[in-house]
This record gives sequence, C-alpha cells and structure tokens, in this order.
Amino acid sequence: MEERFQWILEKLKRMISLKSLRTRVFLLIMLAGIVPSIMMRYGILNNYEKRAVDLRAATVQSQLKIVANHLTSNNYLSNYTSEEQSFLASADVIEAELEMLSNLYEGRVMIINRNCRIVKDVYGISQGKTMISEEVIKCLRGENTVHYDKEHGFIEMTTPIVRTVTESDGKTKTQVIEGVMLTSVSNDSIVATMDILSQKAMTLECIMILIIVFLAYLVSLFITRPFEKVAEQFKQVKEGFKEDTVSVPDYAETVHIVEAFNEIVKKMKAQDQSRQEFVANVSHELKTPMTSLKVLADSLVMQENVPAELYKEFMTDMVSEIDRENQIITDLLALVKLENSVQQLNVATINVNDMTELILKRLRPIARKKDIEVTFESKRVVEASIDEVKVTQILTNLVENAIKYNIDHGWVKVILDADHQYFTFEVSDCGMGIPEESLSHIFERFYRVDKSHSREIGGTGLGLAITRSAVLAHKGSITVTSTVGEGTTFKVKIPLKYIPE
Ligand code: ADP
Repeated sequence: MEERFQWILEKLKRMISLKSLRTRVFLLIMLAGIVPSIMMRYGILNNYEKRAVDLRAATVQSQLKIVANHLTSNNYLSNYTSEEQSFLASADVIEAELEMLSNLYEGRVMIINRNCRIVKDVYGISQGKTMISEEVIKCLRGENTVHYDKEHGFIEMTTPIVRTVTESDGKTKTQVIEGVMLTSVSNDSIVATMDILSQKAMTLECIMILIIVFLAYLVSLFITRPFEKVAEQFKQVKEGFKEDTVSVPDYAETVHIVEAFNEIVKKMKAQDQSRQEFVANVSHELKTPMTSLKVLADSLVMQENVPAELYKEFMTDMVSEIDRENQIITDLLALVKLENSVQQLNVATINVNDMTELILKRLRPIARKKDIEVTFESKRVVEASIDEVKVTQILTNLVENAIKYNIDHGWVKVILDADHQYFTFEVSDCGMGIPEESLSHIFERFYRVDKSHSREIGGTGLGLAITRSAVLAHKGSITVTSTVGEGTTFKVKIPLKYIPE
C-alpha cells in the first residue's frame, strides 16, 4: 500500500516537474488553447459593447435631429426671452416630444442656446443656468460629439440645432447654428445584454478549458510515450531482463537515442568479452610454467636416491620456468601500467638519433650471439617531444623481436626518418617472417605465431601488445609487412610534437 502511494507520489512529482517533457507539452497546449479563447471572449464582448454604443448613439442622434428640425421650424429658441426665462409662445408639442424621447431612451435632454444658456432641461433641474463645456462649444462650431462614460453608465452626445437661412440674393443658403441639444442616455440595456453575453461566454470558456486540459493531457501523454518506452527498455536492459538490442522506431529522435545506446552496449559487451579472454589467457599463461614446475618437482619427489646431476638438471629447468613466470608477470604489469597511463605521458624533447644508437648498443651483444648484424641508418637528425621510456620500449621490443625471430648470420636494419609532422622508424630483418593470416593478430595480447617456437625463444606474446599501446599513447601508428622465409618490416610513425587532448 505504502509502495503504491510512493509510486503515485513519484509519478506526480515527475509529471509536475517543469523539466519533464510531458509537463512542458501539456503547458504549451494549454497556453495555445486557453489564451486565444480568453482573448476571443474579451474581443467579442468589447466589440459588441462598442457596436451597441455606436448603434444606440446613432438611433438617438437621428431622433434628436428630427426634434432639432421641429425646434427650428417652430422657432422654439427665438421665442425664448432671457429676461423672463420662459417661452413667449406655447411650445407644448415640442416639449411633449422631448419628454417622450427622454422616457424612451431613459435619458436627459437639455436645449442650450447660443449664449450657452440652458433653455430647456427635461428634468427641470438646470433650466436657466449657463452650461459651458467643451462638447457644447465644439457643437456650436458645428461638430457632433458622442462620449461614452462607462464608469457612470451613460452615453452623452451633442446635436446642433441648425437653421438654414436664405441670403438676400435669394439663392445662397447658409446654415446657422442656433443652439445645441445636450443629451445623455443610459447604457443600462447594453450592460444587461453584456452581462448575459459575458455569462454565456464564460460558461463556454469553462467548457473549452476543460476540453483543452483533457486534450492537452492526452496529447502530452501520446507525444512523450515513445520516450517513456525508451526509458523502460533501457531499464529492462540494465536490470538484465532484456538481452537484445533496444528498438523504439516511433520517432527519428528515439531511433537516434536507441542507436547510440545499442552502440554503447555493443562496445561494452566487446570490452567485457575481451576482458574475459584476457583473464583466461593470463590464467593459462601463468599456469603453464606452474604445471612444468609441479611435474619437475613431483618427479624428483617420487624418485628415490636421485643422483645429484639429475637434481641439478631438474633444478635448472625449474629455475628457467620460474624465470619465465617472472617474465610473464613483468610484461603483464608493464602492459597494464601502460594502458592505465595512456593519458599520462612524460613528454620531453629528445634526440631520437642518440636514443636509437643507445638502444642498439645495448642490444648488439644479444645479436652477436647469433652473429646478426644490426645497422642503423639515420636520414636526418630528429628531435621530438616524446616519452623517452615508452619510445625506448617500442624500439627495444621491435629490435629484440627482429633478433629473436631471425636466422643465424642474418641482419637487422633500423632506418630513422622524419617529415615536418612525424618521425618514422623502420625495423627490418631477414628472419623467418610472419604468415599472412597471423599479421592481423600479432598485436593481440598473448598471440604467438608458433607457440612452442616462441616459448623456446622466450617470448610471452605480450611484447607487440605493449609496443602498440605505447605507439597509440603517442597518437602514432604501427604497421607490419612480412614475407615468410624472407623477413619482416615494422614501421612506426609518431608525431614530432605530442599534443594532449
Ligand atoms: P613474443 O614475446 O612472443 O615475441 P610479441 O608480441 O613480441 O610476443 O610477438 C608476437 C608474435 O609475433 C611472436 O610470437 C612472433 O611469432 C611474431 N613476431 C614478432 N616479431 C616478429 C619478427 N620480427 N619476425 C617474425 N615473427 C615475429
């Protein structure tokens, strides 16, 4: 129960985390869906309000224009005397019209003459007072104004009362503004419609949001599913339930990820196999001298009255087996050390000519035993930034092999050359050569062309593996050409300047 709760909590945490692709897709779809729907609601409501106000203003204005015409035709304003603040003639009809207009549009109409005096206020409050406002002045100059005061809930508009006067020439007609009708009508009906509309839009929007949330959840689940599949399959491989390579072909991206993963797994498997082979080889190689030792010791133990000469002979054999065991261990340690310290080269500027001379001087006594002539041909003076110990090991191994696998009275030739980037040395011999099928294997650990012969000579099969590791550590290359019965040539190419990564 607790585990299930933990699992749900974990899932929820992963879902809510902003780092999760699913959360991001979900939020993006939500944003893309909800923001336009909110904007649409505001847009529609605002547009409706503007249009409703314009329509109402236009309707009232047209009514006011009719009343304004009646005012001029009845000389309503000219009948007003400012001293008495009343109308000389009866204007009942006009007033009834104004009253009706006021009731119809729930508004207030004021008639203002050119002197800015309010000659009629349907509410009867401001009659006789002076009204100087920007709108009134503008209107007296012939400009209609409409102002919507949303806060106080009314539309205020001005309508000029225009009289058309025929000039003395009887033709020209001019328009004289006699006064202004200042009207304010309520926007209650607009607000009521807006409320209903807003409520409906709100309900619609809520439904839309619910649908969008549901859709966003489904789409985000669907889009990220292949990535979850990738993670699941990786986990299965990690836990050992799945041996085969992973495959999620849903997206190009998952294919790339999975391909990279398969590549790594393949590499790791190959590494693991090579490690196992190495361990098996090491055990086997170390066991061989031990077995010989045991056989020799047993035969001595089991025989009685063994003559002293036989003891001596067996003991000498045992010493040579111990030496061999020692040699294998020394080579193994050298190889392991080299592979562990590939990155740590002890680089210094070395005269390669001098170094080669010294190595050959050390090896010539061994060559002399088989009457082998070791020659050195230097094409130029070579100064290089290298790890002296490791390059000495390379050259020593190659020349040692050239002597070991040579014929009596043979020769070994070392040629040193360089270009502007690399220096090369070739180690050739006139020995037994290497069969073609073995050429690709000789750099493998413990590989020997002829095991018994190599053992006789004292080889461990690790020399070329050590050499290759040392060459690679210098970012160089090593190649070999050989003809059986004629001889072998190893060619090593190393950069003059070591550039660390
Ligand atoms: P080993 O310690 O046995 O010499 P190496 O790794 O140095 O091991 O060499 C691997 C094998 O390659 C040797 O056993 C030998 O058969 C072959 N080999 C190496 N160098 C030469 C050479 N110059 N001529 C002929 N065979 C060679």
